[in-house]
Amino acid sequence: ERIISGEIQEEDITEELSLRPKVLKQYIGQHKAKENLSIFIEAAKMRNEALDHVLLYGPPGLGKTTMAQIIANEMGVQFKQTSGPAIERSGDLAAILSSLEVGDVLFIDEIHRLPRAVEEILYPAMEDFCLDIVIGQGPSARSVQLDLPPFTLVGATTRAGLLSAPLRDRFGVLSRLEFYEVVDLCAIVERTADIFQVEIDKAAALEVARRSRGTPRIANRLLKRVRDISQVKGEDSISIETTQKALQMLQVDQEGLDHIDHKLLLAMMDGFKGGPVGLDTIAASIGEESQTIEDVYEPYLLQQGFIQRTPRGRLVTPKAYAHFEREVPEA
Ligand code: ADP
Repeated sequence: ERIISGEIQEEDITEELSLRPKVLKQYIGQHKAKENLSIFIEAAKMRNEALDHVLLYGPPGLGKTTMAQIIANEMGVQFKQTSGPAIERSGDLAAILSSLEVGDVLFIDEIHRLPRAVEEILYPAMEDFCLDIVIGQGPSARSVQLDLPPFTLVGATTRAGLLSAPLRDRFGVLSRLEFYEVVDLCAIVERTADIFQVEIDKAAALEVARRSRGTPRIANRLLKRVRDISQVKGEDSISIETTQKALQMLQVDQEGLDHIDHKLLLAMMDGFKGGPVGLDTIAASIGEESQTIEDVYEPYLLQQGFIQRTPRGRLVTPKAYAHFEREVPEA
Protein backbone atom coordinates (compact mmCIF):
# COMPACT_ATOMS: atom_id res chain seq x y z
CA GLU A 1 0.00 0.00 0.00
CA ARG A 2 1.29 3.44 -0.86
CA ILE A 3 1.87 5.67 2.12
CA ILE A 4 0.75 8.58 -0.02
CA SER A 5 -2.58 7.00 -0.97
CA GLY A 6 -5.67 8.97 0.07
CA GLU A 7 -7.67 5.77 0.57
CA ILE A 8 -8.22 4.67 4.15
CA GLN A 9 -5.79 1.99 5.34
CA GLU A 10 -5.80 -0.40 8.28
CA GLU A 11 -3.43 1.80 10.29
CA ASP A 12 -5.66 4.89 9.97
CA ILE A 13 -8.80 3.39 11.43
CA THR A 14 -8.26 3.83 15.17
CA GLU A 15 -6.70 7.28 14.97
CA GLU A 16 -9.31 8.69 12.68
CA LEU A 17 -11.93 8.34 15.40
CA SER A 18 -10.10 10.83 17.61
CA LEU A 19 -8.87 13.07 14.79
CA ARG A 20 -12.19 13.90 13.15
CA PRO A 21 -13.33 17.46 13.75
CA LYS A 22 -16.85 17.48 15.19
CA VAL A 23 -18.21 20.87 14.16
CA LEU A 24 -17.84 23.15 11.14
CA LYS A 25 -15.66 25.58 13.07
CA GLN A 26 -13.03 22.88 13.63
CA TYR A 27 -13.09 21.81 9.98
CA ILE A 28 -9.98 23.39 8.51
CA GLY A 29 -9.85 24.70 4.92
CA GLN A 30 -12.43 24.01 2.17
CA HIS A 31 -13.71 27.55 2.63
CA LYS A 32 -16.11 27.45 -0.29
CA ALA A 33 -17.76 24.17 0.65
CA LYS A 34 -17.95 25.19 4.30
CA GLU A 35 -19.54 28.54 3.60
CA ASN A 36 -22.02 27.02 1.19
CA LEU A 37 -23.02 24.25 3.59
CA SER A 38 -23.25 26.50 6.62
CA ILE A 39 -25.81 28.67 4.83
CA PHE A 40 -27.94 25.65 3.91
CA ILE A 41 -27.66 24.29 7.45
CA GLU A 42 -28.66 27.62 9.01
CA ALA A 43 -31.62 27.97 6.68
CA ALA A 44 -32.85 24.42 7.28
CA LYS A 45 -32.56 24.93 11.03
CA MET A 46 -34.50 28.19 10.85
CA ARG A 47 -37.29 26.50 8.93
CA ASN A 48 -37.09 23.51 11.23
CA GLU A 49 -36.79 21.22 8.25
CA ALA A 50 -34.46 18.42 7.24
CA LEU A 51 -31.50 19.66 5.25
CA ASP A 52 -31.69 19.10 1.51
CA HIS A 53 -29.77 16.07 0.18
CA VAL A 54 -26.06 16.75 -0.17
CA LEU A 55 -23.58 15.24 -2.61
CA LEU A 56 -19.94 15.58 -1.56
CA TYR A 57 -17.40 14.77 -4.22
CA GLY A 58 -13.64 14.80 -4.46
CA PRO A 59 -10.61 12.51 -4.10
CA PRO A 60 -10.35 10.14 -1.12
CA GLY A 61 -9.08 11.43 2.21
CA LEU A 62 -10.21 15.04 1.78
CA GLY A 63 -12.85 14.93 4.49
CA LYS A 64 -16.14 13.81 2.96
CA THR A 65 -17.06 11.42 5.78
CA THR A 66 -15.95 14.00 8.31
CA MET A 67 -18.13 16.64 6.68
CA ALA A 68 -21.14 14.29 6.63
CA GLN A 69 -20.76 13.71 10.37
CA ILE A 70 -20.41 17.41 10.98
CA ILE A 71 -23.63 18.05 9.06
CA ALA A 72 -25.45 15.64 11.39
CA ASN A 73 -23.86 17.27 14.46
CA GLU A 74 -24.70 20.77 13.31
CA MET A 75 -28.28 19.75 12.53
CA GLY A 76 -28.50 17.95 15.88
CA VAL A 77 -29.64 14.67 14.34
CA GLN A 78 -28.46 11.06 14.22
CA PHE A 79 -25.82 9.93 11.77
CA LYS A 80 -26.14 6.61 9.99
CA GLN A 81 -23.44 5.36 7.68
CA THR A 82 -23.26 2.79 4.91
CA SER A 83 -21.63 2.48 1.52
CA GLY A 84 -22.55 1.68 -2.07
CA PRO A 85 -20.76 -1.67 -2.24
CA ALA A 86 -22.16 -2.74 1.15
CA ILE A 87 -25.77 -2.59 -0.05
CA GLU A 88 -26.32 -5.55 -2.32
CA ARG A 89 -30.08 -5.87 -2.41
CA SER A 90 -33.00 -3.43 -2.42
CA GLY A 91 -34.18 -4.97 0.85
CA ASP A 92 -30.95 -3.91 2.57
CA LEU A 93 -31.52 -0.30 1.66
CA ALA A 94 -35.24 -0.49 2.49
CA ALA A 95 -34.31 -1.72 5.97
CA ILE A 96 -31.89 1.16 6.51
CA LEU A 97 -34.34 3.75 5.21
CA SER A 98 -37.19 2.52 7.37
CA SER A 99 -35.00 2.79 10.47
CA LEU A 100 -34.48 6.54 9.97
CA GLU A 101 -35.98 9.15 12.27
CA VAL A 102 -37.04 12.68 11.41
CA GLY A 103 -34.15 14.75 10.08
CA ASP A 104 -31.52 11.99 10.33
CA VAL A 105 -28.48 12.04 8.10
CA LEU A 106 -27.94 8.88 6.07
CA PHE A 107 -24.41 8.85 4.71
CA ILE A 108 -23.72 6.62 1.71
CA ASP A 109 -20.03 6.49 0.88
CA GLU A 110 -19.00 5.47 -2.66
CA ILE A 111 -22.58 6.06 -3.69
CA HIS A 112 -21.67 5.57 -7.36
CA ARG A 113 -21.20 1.88 -6.59
CA LEU A 114 -24.82 1.25 -5.58
CA PRO A 115 -26.33 -1.48 -7.72
CA ARG A 116 -28.81 -0.05 -10.21
CA ALA A 117 -31.85 -1.82 -8.74
CA VAL A 118 -30.98 -0.47 -5.30
CA GLU A 119 -30.46 3.00 -6.67
CA GLU A 120 -34.01 3.03 -7.99
CA ILE A 121 -35.35 2.59 -4.45
CA LEU A 122 -33.60 5.82 -3.58
CA TYR A 123 -35.39 8.00 -6.13
CA PRO A 124 -38.85 8.08 -4.46
CA ALA A 125 -37.19 7.99 -1.04
CA MET A 126 -35.21 11.14 -1.79
CA GLU A 127 -37.94 12.92 -3.68
CA ASP A 128 -41.15 12.10 -1.83
CA PHE A 129 -39.87 10.39 1.31
CA CYS A 130 -41.61 7.19 0.43
CA LEU A 131 -40.57 3.64 -0.06
CA ASP A 132 -42.03 1.44 -2.80
CA ILE A 133 -41.61 -2.16 -1.92
CA VAL A 134 -42.79 -5.21 -3.79
CA ILE A 135 -44.18 -8.01 -1.70
CA GLY A 136 -44.35 -11.53 -3.11
CA GLN A 137 -43.30 -12.76 -6.53
CA GLY A 138 -44.81 -13.47 -9.92
CA PRO A 139 -48.47 -12.74 -10.63
CA SER A 140 -49.36 -12.35 -6.94
CA ALA A 141 -46.69 -9.70 -6.38
CA ARG A 142 -48.00 -6.36 -5.22
CA SER A 143 -46.42 -3.07 -4.48
CA VAL A 144 -46.81 -1.34 -1.15
CA GLN A 145 -45.93 2.24 -0.37
CA LEU A 146 -44.50 3.22 2.99
CA ASP A 147 -43.99 6.77 4.21
CA LEU A 148 -40.56 7.73 5.45
CA PRO A 149 -39.73 10.61 7.78
CA PRO A 150 -38.01 13.52 6.04
CA PHE A 151 -34.29 12.77 6.17
CA THR A 152 -31.07 14.00 4.58
CA LEU A 153 -29.10 11.79 2.28
CA VAL A 154 -25.43 12.69 2.16
CA GLY A 155 -23.71 10.88 -0.68
CA ALA A 156 -19.98 10.77 -1.26
CA THR A 157 -18.14 9.92 -4.42
CA THR A 158 -14.71 10.51 -5.88
CA ARG A 159 -16.16 12.03 -9.05
CA ALA A 160 -19.65 13.49 -9.55
CA GLY A 161 -19.53 12.24 -13.15
CA LEU A 162 -19.60 8.65 -11.93
CA LEU A 163 -23.18 9.08 -10.73
CA SER A 164 -26.13 8.36 -12.97
CA ALA A 165 -27.93 11.54 -14.01
CA PRO A 166 -31.24 10.68 -12.26
CA LEU A 167 -29.43 10.15 -8.98
CA ARG A 168 -27.28 13.26 -9.31
CA ASP A 169 -30.32 15.39 -10.10
CA ARG A 170 -31.96 14.46 -6.82
CA PHE A 171 -29.30 16.19 -4.73
CA GLY A 172 -30.17 19.77 -3.81
CA VAL A 173 -26.65 20.63 -2.71
CA LEU A 174 -23.56 19.65 -4.67
CA SER A 175 -20.34 20.35 -2.91
CA ARG A 176 -16.92 19.72 -4.32
CA LEU A 177 -13.98 19.24 -1.99
CA GLU A 178 -10.65 20.43 -3.31
CA PHE A 179 -7.08 19.41 -2.52
CA TYR A 180 -6.03 21.47 0.52
CA GLU A 181 -3.71 24.45 0.45
CA VAL A 182 -0.39 23.95 2.26
CA VAL A 183 -1.34 26.48 4.98
CA ASP A 184 -4.51 24.56 5.74
CA LEU A 185 -2.71 21.22 5.78
CA CYS A 186 -0.13 22.74 8.08
CA ALA A 187 -2.91 23.75 10.47
CA ILE A 188 -4.26 20.19 10.28
CA VAL A 189 -0.81 18.76 11.07
CA GLU A 190 -0.51 21.08 14.07
CA ARG A 191 -3.98 20.16 15.27
CA THR A 192 -3.20 16.45 14.96
CA ALA A 193 0.12 16.86 16.78
CA ASP A 194 -1.83 18.55 19.55
CA ILE A 195 -4.24 15.60 19.77
CA PHE A 196 -1.26 13.20 19.76
CA GLN A 197 0.23 15.39 22.54
CA VAL A 198 3.52 15.97 20.76
CA GLU A 199 5.32 19.20 19.98
CA ILE A 200 6.25 19.95 16.38
CA ASP A 201 8.41 22.76 15.04
CA LYS A 202 6.71 25.05 12.56
CA ALA A 203 9.16 24.15 9.77
CA ALA A 204 8.56 20.45 10.37
CA ALA A 205 4.78 20.85 10.23
CA LEU A 206 5.13 22.78 6.98
CA GLU A 207 7.35 20.08 5.51
CA VAL A 208 4.79 17.36 6.30
CA ALA A 209 2.05 19.57 4.85
CA ARG A 210 3.98 20.16 1.64
CA ARG A 211 4.49 16.47 1.02
CA SER A 212 0.94 15.38 1.78
CA ARG A 213 -0.59 15.77 -1.66
CA GLY A 214 -3.22 18.21 -0.49
CA THR A 215 -4.82 15.43 1.56
CA PRO A 216 -5.47 15.49 5.34
CA ARG A 217 -5.50 11.70 5.63
CA ILE A 218 -2.00 11.54 4.15
CA ALA A 219 -0.81 14.43 6.33
CA ASN A 220 -1.96 12.61 9.45
CA ARG A 221 -0.39 9.35 8.33
CA LEU A 222 2.96 10.97 7.52
CA LEU A 223 2.92 12.84 10.81
CA LYS A 224 2.43 9.59 12.69
CA ARG A 225 5.50 8.03 11.07
CA VAL A 226 7.60 11.14 11.61
CA ARG A 227 6.49 11.29 15.25
CA ASP A 228 7.60 7.70 15.86
CA ILE A 229 11.07 8.41 14.55
CA SER A 230 11.33 11.67 16.45
CA GLN A 231 10.34 9.92 19.69
CA VAL A 232 12.91 7.18 19.21
CA LYS A 233 15.51 9.92 18.78
CA GLY A 234 14.33 11.45 22.05
CA GLU A 235 13.38 14.84 20.60
CA ASP A 236 11.27 17.20 22.71
CA SER A 237 9.77 18.66 19.59
CA ILE A 238 9.66 17.13 16.12
CA SER A 239 12.44 18.83 14.14
CA ILE A 240 12.74 19.64 10.46
CA GLU A 241 15.86 17.45 10.15
CA THR A 242 14.10 14.38 11.49
CA THR A 243 11.07 15.11 9.34
CA GLN A 244 13.14 15.32 6.18
CA LYS A 245 15.04 12.14 7.01
CA ALA A 246 11.90 10.24 7.89
CA LEU A 247 10.15 11.26 4.69
CA GLN A 248 13.19 10.38 2.65
CA MET A 249 13.17 6.95 4.26
CA LEU A 250 9.51 6.62 3.37
CA GLN A 251 10.41 7.56 -0.21
CA VAL A 252 8.11 10.55 -0.30
CA ASP A 253 9.84 13.33 -2.20
CA GLN A 254 9.64 17.14 -1.77
CA GLU A 255 6.47 17.35 -3.80
CA GLY A 256 4.81 14.35 -2.18
CA LEU A 257 5.54 12.02 -5.09
CA ASP A 258 6.50 8.41 -4.44
CA HIS A 259 8.14 5.65 -6.48
CA ILE A 260 4.94 4.90 -8.37
CA ASP A 261 4.54 8.51 -9.49
CA HIS A 262 8.19 8.42 -10.51
CA LYS A 263 7.65 5.21 -12.44
CA LEU A 264 4.68 6.71 -14.25
CA LEU A 265 6.37 9.99 -15.14
CA LEU A 266 9.66 8.34 -16.14
CA ALA A 267 7.84 5.79 -18.30
CA MET A 268 6.19 8.67 -20.15
CA MET A 269 9.45 10.56 -20.52
CA ASP A 270 11.63 7.62 -21.52
CA GLY A 271 9.18 5.52 -23.49
CA PHE A 272 7.07 8.18 -25.18
CA LYS A 273 9.20 11.32 -25.28
CA GLY A 274 6.88 12.87 -22.71
CA GLY A 275 3.74 12.24 -24.76
CA PRO A 276 1.07 12.89 -25.74
CA VAL A 277 0.36 9.27 -25.01
CA GLY A 278 -2.95 7.51 -24.46
CA LEU A 279 -3.98 6.38 -21.00
CA ASP A 280 -4.25 2.72 -22.01
CA THR A 281 -0.77 2.77 -23.51
CA ILE A 282 0.72 4.23 -20.33
CA ALA A 283 -1.19 1.69 -18.28
CA ALA A 284 0.14 -1.21 -20.32
CA SER A 285 3.70 0.09 -20.19
CA ILE A 286 3.81 0.22 -16.38
CA GLY A 287 1.56 -2.77 -15.78
CA GLU A 288 -1.33 -0.90 -14.13
CA GLU A 289 -5.02 -0.62 -14.89
CA SER A 290 -6.11 2.52 -16.76
CA GLN A 291 -8.87 3.06 -14.22
CA THR A 292 -6.40 3.01 -11.33
CA ILE A 293 -4.19 5.52 -13.05
CA GLU A 294 -7.13 7.79 -13.75
CA ASP A 295 -8.68 7.58 -10.28
CA VAL A 296 -5.68 7.19 -8.02
CA TYR A 297 -2.37 8.30 -9.54
CA GLU A 298 -3.36 11.00 -11.93
CA PRO A 299 -5.55 13.52 -10.05
CA TYR A 300 -2.73 14.91 -7.93
CA LEU A 301 -0.22 14.89 -10.81
CA LEU A 302 -2.72 16.80 -12.93
CA GLN A 303 -3.62 19.22 -10.18
CA GLN A 304 0.05 19.95 -9.49
CA GLY A 305 0.77 20.38 -13.18
CA PHE A 306 3.17 17.47 -13.63
CA ILE A 307 1.04 16.13 -16.44
CA GLN A 308 -1.60 17.59 -18.69
CA ARG A 309 -4.59 16.00 -20.32
CA THR A 310 -4.87 16.78 -24.03
CA PRO A 311 -7.21 15.43 -26.71
CA ARG A 312 -4.32 13.30 -27.98
CA GLY A 313 -3.40 11.86 -24.61
CA ARG A 314 -1.37 12.68 -21.51
CA LEU A 315 1.57 15.02 -21.73
CA VAL A 316 4.48 15.42 -19.31
CA THR A 317 4.98 19.11 -18.50
CA PRO A 318 8.23 21.10 -18.21
CA LYS A 319 7.58 21.19 -14.45
CA ALA A 320 7.95 17.41 -14.34
CA TYR A 321 11.17 17.53 -16.35
CA ALA A 322 12.48 20.15 -13.95
CA HIS A 323 11.49 17.97 -11.00
CA PHE A 324 13.76 15.22 -12.33
CA GLU A 325 16.41 17.79 -13.31
CA ARG A 326 16.08 16.86 -16.96
CA GLU A 327 15.93 18.90 -20.13
CA VAL A 328 12.63 19.08 -21.98
CA PRO A 329 13.23 17.10 -25.21
CA GLU A 330 13.01 18.88 -28.57
CA ALA A 331 9.68 18.40 -30.32
P1 ADP B 1 -12.98 10.97 2.97
O1 ADP B 1 -14.31 10.55 3.52
O2 ADP B 1 -13.08 12.09 1.99
O3 ADP B 1 -12.15 9.83 2.44
P2 ADP B 1 -12.39 11.54 5.76
O4 ADP B 1 -13.54 12.40 6.13
O5 ADP B 1 -12.44 10.12 6.24
O6 ADP B 1 -12.14 11.58 4.19
O7 ADP B 1 -11.08 12.27 6.31
C1 ADP B 1 -9.83 11.61 6.43
C2 ADP B 1 -9.12 12.07 7.68
O8 ADP B 1 -8.65 13.40 7.49
C3 ADP B 1 -10.00 12.09 8.91
O9 ADP B 1 -9.41 11.32 9.93
C4 ADP B 1 -10.03 13.51 9.42
O10 ADP B 1 -9.58 13.54 10.74
C5 ADP B 1 -9.02 14.24 8.57
N1 ADP B 1 -9.64 15.46 8.02
C6 ADP B 1 -10.31 15.55 6.86
N2 ADP B 1 -10.70 16.82 6.62
C7 ADP B 1 -10.26 17.55 7.65
C8 ADP B 1 -10.34 18.94 7.95
N3 ADP B 1 -10.93 19.81 7.14
N4 ADP B 1 -9.78 19.37 9.10
C9 ADP B 1 -9.15 18.49 9.92
N5 ADP B 1 -9.03 17.16 9.67
C10 ADP B 1 -9.57 16.69 8.55
